[in-house]
Amino acid sequence: MDFDLQKIIKKSTKHSKNKSSTAVDDLFWIESKSDWWTNSDLNLRYYWNKIEDSYIIWLVNDIFLNALWKRASDIHIEPTDEEVIVRFRIDWVFVKYKSFKLSEKDSIIARIKIMSYLRIDEHRLPQDWKISYRLFAWKAIDMRVSVIPTIYWEKCVIRILKKDTEAPKLKDLWIMPYNMVRIDKHLKNNYWMILAVWPTGSWKSTTLFWLLSHFDPSQKNISTLEDPVEYRIKWVNHTQINPAIDFTFARGLRSLLRQDPDIIMVWEIRDEETAKLAVEASITWHIVFSTIHTNSAAHTIQRIVNLWVDPLLVTSSLRMIISQRLARKLCPYCKEKYEASEKIKNFFVKNIWKYMKNKDSLTLYKAKEWGCEKCNHIWYKWRVWFFEVLEMTEWLEKLILNNSSRLQLEIQAIWDGMVTIKQDWLVKVLLWETSIEELLSVLWT
Ligand SMILES: [Zn+2]
Repeated sequence: MDFDLQKIIKKSTKHSKNKSSTAVDDLFWIESKSDWWTNSDLNLRYYWNKIEDSYIIWLVNDIFLNALWKRASDIHIEPTDEEVIVRFRIDWVFVKYKSFKLSEKDSIIARIKIMSYLRIDEHRLPQDWKISYRLFAWKAIDMRVSVIPTIYWEKCVIRILKKDTEAPKLKDLWIMPYNMVRIDKHLKNNYWMILAVWPTGSWKSTTLFWLLSHFDPSQKNISTLEDPVEYRIKWVNHTQINPAIDFTFARGLRSLLRQDPDIIMVWEIRDEETAKLAVEASITWHIVFSTIHTNSAAHTIQRIVNLWVDPLLVTSSLRMIISQRLARKLCPYCKEKYEASEKIKNFFVKNIWKYMKNKDSLTLYKAKEWGCEKCNHIWYKWRVWFFEVLEMTEWLEKLILNNSSRLQLEIQAIWDGMVTIKQDWLVKVLLWETSIEELLSVLWT
């Protein structure tokens, strides 16, 4: 963490004369950093006073820095009739950061608009833009800023996007051996389609990129169509689609097929054309990864047939469906042990008896009432994934060709050895990573 203080200050003094704000940002980052690490011998306050609007710049930078510090995914800046409230969304839960005087609302929103190239004189219409903002000398953050007028003033939501991050490692996903065996088997085939299924907010890209990382990009032509590009892998051709200029997934996929691809990753199948193109690509000796928005693995088969893809093509292309859900992991610093009741124990025995060593008593963990400092008092820290891996079998193929119901498909898949997402979850509760309460709040909503 080294930076040239003298250089930044020189730059800021120069800029303070012509009132430009970019270099000033660097200075005020140091100002706020000095509060945290108290490493500054320099009288930065002197420069601070010299710069116009510096307080608001500092204040907004402070919001951003704290959001990054606390691993927030979104920043909400909301005016009410009394004050301006700043909240962070951390692991799906809102945590209030600060509130400001109502008189500061114009300046805060104006500052964010300037940072994100939005019109500062427009207060009646919603505006949004995606930018990469250089918060300080060596740290840029990608964010999507959205401003919408409310009855009090404009409300601003900032989604913090990850940038230059590496694809996740397998251990972060925590795929249990019973699922791992199946995934491994299908990754060795030469052509197929694998669909990852996700309800909103379950970080599908993490799984997709983990699957992609099985292939050597220097030996294969790996191309992606994404919205947005989240991770970057060396040698992989990442393409960002842009529906605003009619660069859709379908159009991108048509072009990609002329690019001599081996492996194609399509971010999402939303429409008939993309579905058909993806299926055709996989039966013409390509490996296709994609995602589709459904609730379970069996539901996905129905969804793709409903997109007017011939069931015969579905059975010959689709090899595996990975359905995933994401929940919060219990904070390791404050989780509490307890002995489960007889009712809960019986529920576990009924569902996952195969994975239970001790069927007589059951010790589980739950969140501590007030949490602790380390988890911002929200009891949960980080995330844990749950999977359901459906393999295409001869029996399933027959059912698909007979236009069977979702339930029939599901029963057959379980019969063929699929461990359901609920079972995978219970196994992870058993391993003390998450709680029954979290299971109930996510799985049945
Ligand atoms: Zn805690």
